[in-house]
Amino acid sequence: MTELVPAGFVFHQSNLQAFRTCRHSFLLRYVRKLPWPAPLAARTSSFEKDLVAGSTLHSLIHQYFLGINPELLISCAANFPDSRVSVWFNNFLGSQYAKLAANQYPEHTLQITLNGSLLLAKFDLISFEEDLIHICDWKTSRVLPKRQFFQDRIQTMVYTLVAARAQSQASRPVVMHYWEASFPEQPIIFEMDKAQLLRYEESLTDLMSNIQSLEIEEFERTSDPKKCTYCEYQSYCSRWGTEADGESLYDWFEIGLSELDGKTNNEPGEFPGTPLAYN
Ligand code: SF4
Repeated sequence: MTELVPAGFVFHQSNLQAFRTCRHSFLLRYVRKLPWPAPLAARTSSFEKDLVAGSTLHSLIHQYFLGINPELLISCAANFPDSRVSVWFNNFLGSQYAKLAANQYPEHTLQITLNGSLLLAKFDLISFEEDLIHICDWKTSRVLPKRQFFQDRIQTMVYTLVAARAQSQASRPVVMHYWEASFPEQPIIFEMDKAQLLRYEESLTDLMSNIQSLEIEEFERTSDPKKCTYCEYQSYCSRWGTEADGESLYDWFEIGLSELDGKTNNEPGEFPGTPLAYN
């Protein structure tokens, strides 16, 4: 193990996704923790607007599950300058995911140890049934991603594995729901069986071990300039990117949103035992 990524480093979906997108971005962002010097032309318009709108929706849904009066939240959403937020929030309230229950935990963080490495997940919503765990993740994509896209995401792997392995009681199956606010009737749902979780465990263990074993020169800059378009470190790399593809845009958006929403803070909670109370 090199000293670059020390024992005790906490992995999560954002830094693992950043590594997959560009090893060098992982080094700059999560190891050296370098600030980025200036806004990017590509990120100053719709990208940043989408980030703020997405983060606001997450905040509204979080407050809803904390028991804040929905009418008040509807009014807040209606007054938000980006009209999409109000549409999204109303879509949420009309969906099956707005159903309140005592076994739900919004913005809940869990952490596990995998082969000596720490792996953290902060869920938009996690709920526990007697024989099942549900994870919900709210999305605000402009275009509905394909099912296969989510199947292979680091987020799917990290969230389902952490939820499954953090259980103190006999393992319950995990179901992951991706709910897209602009496509409320088309949630993408994965039911994870033990074999799939084992594959995720092997993949993530290998990935984290690999990252911890790398020397500094092995945190290479991506060879794909499309991945640079929305990266904040362009000026460090003298890269300005070319027109981004949809996947690169999605990657950087999710990383930015996670940080905006505090999903990369290392503050794991307890595995829930006491349900939340609602008014
Ligand atoms: S600008 Fe490109 S090469 Fe540099 S860290 Fe970002 S994605 Fe990697």
